[in-house]
Amino acid sequence: MLWTDDPERDFDRYTAEQDEKLAACPVCADCKDPIQSWFAYKVDGDYYCEICFNDRFLQGDEPRGCERCGFKAEPYYIINDEVLCAHCADEEFREDIT
Ligand SMILES: [Zn+2]
Ligand SMILES: [Zn+2]
Repeated sequence: MLWTDDPERDFDRYTAEQDEKLAACPVCADCKDPIQSWFAYKVDGDYYCEICFNDRFLQGDEPRGCERCGFKAEPYYIINDEVLCAHCADEEFREDIT
């Protein structure tokens, strides 16, 4: 943005721009924070930040075969009753939100 000789107005414009950026971020369905990373996970229409996505879907008591690629993953994700390795979970559910 262009800076003027009116610092107060500049500051207001700057905060407005930051607020706009935040408002454009998807909000995490679990922690309700705007997701400010370059990616978010989208499951059933809900966005999750990386931390909440892992909290909710990551399991790891014993290695299990990924249902997409067959890789024995530990930990693994269970999303919509499907066992997925981290790579396949990223492929399927991670979205670029920049
Ligand atoms: Zn979250
Ligand atoms: Zn896989």
